[in-house]
Amino acid sequence: MRHIAIVGSGPAGYYTAEACQKQFGDDVRIDILDRMPVPFGLIRSGVAPDHQSIKAVARRYEGIALTDNVRFVGKLAVGSDIAISELIDFYDAVILATGAPFDRRLGIAGDDLPGVLGSAAFVGWYNGHPDHADLAPLIDGQDVAIVGNGNVALDCARILAKSAAEFEGSDIVRHALETLTGSRVRSITIVGRRGPHQIAMTPKELGELGHLASAHPVVDPADMPPVESDQVLEPGPRKSVALLREFAAHPVGQGVPVRFDFFAAPVRIEGDRRAQALVVERTVLGADGAAVGTGETYAIPAGLIISCIGYRTPPIPDVPYDEKAGRFANVDGRISPGLYCVGWARRGPTGTIGTNKPDGFLIAEEIAKDQPEPGGKPGRAGLDAVIEARGLDIVTFRDWQKIDLAEIERARTGAPREKFVRVDDMVAASRAS
Ligand code: NAP
Repeated sequence: MRHIAIVGSGPAGYYTAEACQKQFGDDVRIDILDRMPVPFGLIRSGVAPDHQSIKAVARRYEGIALTDNVRFVGKLAVGSDIAISELIDFYDAVILATGAPFDRRLGIAGDDLPGVLGSAAFVGWYNGHPDHADLAPLIDGQDVAIVGNGNVALDCARILAKSAAEFEGSDIVRHALETLTGSRVRSITIVGRRGPHQIAMTPKELGELGHLASAHPVVDPADMPPVESDQVLEPGPRKSVALLREFAAHPVGQGVPVRFDFFAAPVRIEGDRRAQALVVERTVLGADGAAVGTGETYAIPAGLIISCIGYRTPPIPDVPYDEKAGRFANVDGRISPGLYCVGWARRGPTGTIGTNKPDGFLIAEEIAKDQPEPGGKPGRAGLDAVIEARGLDIVTFRDWQKIDLAEIERARTGAPREKFVRVDDMVAASRAS
């Protein structure tokens, strides 16, 4: 029997489990470990609460979780509850699918002032991740600056701009709903260090900004390159740029302005005890497409500044780490004999949820090549002995199903669930009879 441990129960973890099932058939046992008592990682804590159709993919992961040769072991932290070397002793292959839940910092003066947040923290807060439940972002009628021109910047802007009615049908957690709708923002500026042709926003997500009940997008026509130059773009980006052109043609609308400020690179954050302005430098595009500063600076008033500039994978003791890239050091997913990585932990925070699928198949094939035969390791028996000896209070998939049911039962009217935002409450729900 081949024993595989997958660390992380998000999309990369479950697609890899599925790929290993297909690769090794009945000859495999897979344990999926997670430090949280609840599975599905980014689906639960990253995907926007008003994007329920994307979250529906969790049903597929549930199907994998309920097969006989797959087990979920929640509330087990690899690196502290159990060492990576122990897992390597127990399993033929250990696959790190830990995602990238840490923020990349802006790295400019003032980025530690109150009022400055990374998107992992802000998104984690409105999605009810226990690590960020106490964040209390300073929204209180502020001007907001959002740094970055990717889909996460759009998620943050949209969530800040929505009215209470527009959250109907979402699973935004109560504390975020109350804060967001109790104190509306005055303006939102989405700051991009390059131009409209360089955005990483996809058309569906960008288009949503044009359909908000009490906010409207604003684009300065002067920032748009000549329309003929759109021909060089791939179809997806071309659609996004066409939307920016529509926004530029209709600058006036209802409610909160969501301004796109292009060619503006963050320089420093100013403020007395809390953020008050983001100072940016006007840029132009260099020959290589990079942003080049012009020396001209100006201040964008902002009491809340959210950087959406990418993520980092949390290091694990004794696992080689690429500091610059912010992920595990690996070659095509191989870290060291018996140790692999997939998803954002392998390639950094790019691509959609589906991008993790081929990743999983690739690593299953690599494992088959590296270890044509299983090595007679103890697998889950070894892990269970450690759990017992250390008195670790783990959560199983059946336990999660109880948490799931309890969250559905306590949902406010029209919402699919009301998430527990404390680990203790999750565990208590899992232990209820
Ligand atoms: P992203 O797409 O890589 O965008 C990051 C943005 O940050 C880029 O515009 C980048 O500009 C900018 N940036 C980086 N460093 C910067 C700095 N020091 N100063 C100013 N700007 C800086 O990342 P993301 O938005 O975090 O999204 C991560 C992945 O998740 C993406 O693949 C995204 O499509 C996906 N996602 C998808 C959805 C969805 O499908 N609904 C929702 C959320 C996220 P440059 O281009 O100049 O580097």
